[in-house]
Amino acid sequence: MNDSIAIYPGSFDPLTLGHDDIVRRGLRLVERVIIGVAETATQSKSGLFSIEERVALIREVYADEPRVEATSFQGLTVDFARSRGARLMIRGLRAVSDFEYEFQMALMNRSLWPEVEVLFMAPDVRHTFLSSSLVREVARLGGDVTEFVSAIVKERMDERFAESASR
Ligand code: ADP
Repeated sequence: MNDSIAIYPGSFDPLTLGHDDIVRRGLRLVERVIIGVAETATQSKSGLFSIEERVALIREVYADEPRVEATSFQGLTVDFARSRGARLMIRGLRAVSDFEYEFQMALMNRSLWPEVEVLFMAPDVRHTFLSSSLVREVARLGGDVTEFVSAIVKERMDERFAESASR
């Protein structure tokens, strides 16, 4: 296992500045962060962006950051981590409300693969209220999400909502 690599799994629909905050914190600890967009049937059907679009968007956001990689994966997160030779898994904790689910997942993942180690990181307080679902909802209702996502993500979201409005 290579402890200079960490995987950061999630749905990232879309990547927010909260996710980016966690990625940048991760880069202070490890050499390489692999963002893994989880493919599940429900996420790919009901999401704003397809899995492929999310991966492409993340790659664009980190085009100038060779230490960040983005890819999709199917199946168990621990199998994905193991296949990449990484036992470190990064997760963000925004508030106590995230804790129960994250703790449960961490222990389940550990029982599936005892070598895994989950690193929980808290974002800057400015990002603690951010979630992809809230950002999607605000944008869908015509609110300005400039403060919550990177410029590239904002542009793609505007395009996506313009497409659905003209349909
Ligand atoms: P999931 O659907 O698995 O929760 P997300 O893409 O929403 O996936 O999030 C991936 C990870 O990033 C999770 O650990 C989540 O807690 C964390 N995260 C999401 N938004 C933020 C944020 N604003 N600040 C810190 N961590 C965050």
